Amino acid sequence: MKKDMICIVCPVGCHISIDTDTHDVFNNKCKRGERYAQKELLNPTRMVTSTVKIASIHQRRIPVKTTDAIPKDKIFDLMDLLNTIDLKTPTTIGEKVLENVFDSGVDVVTTMTLKE
Ligand code: SF4
Repeated sequence: MKKDMICIVCPVGCHISIDTDTHDVFNNKCKRGERYAQKELLNPTRMVTSTVKIASIHQRRIPVKTTDAIPKDKIFDLMDLLNTIDLKTPTTIGEKVLENVFDSGVDVVTTMTLKE
């Protein structure tokens, strides 16, 4: 069976497909597309950006992101975790909000500084 996907590694956006049994990749213009399709089939991951609550006089939420991609099937669990967080000011850009989420080695950090 073949699975179709669009390679998002570069702006060309090749429409590629992968054989789900043999893992052979078709219509990719370069080797990176092959690696992308195989990873997307076997272990899809995503960077996650979101916001968490913060007690500030300026705003009620602050943007956060993962420091690397996490397994795609953990995204909703991560969102649930982020909904339990309530930060206080001051916070500095890059401050850890969560550490080693789901034993992935990936942290969640703030992406802005908020003094008060
Ligand atoms: S297969 Fe290669 S050329 Fe095509 S979108 Fe992916 S990285 Fe770009």
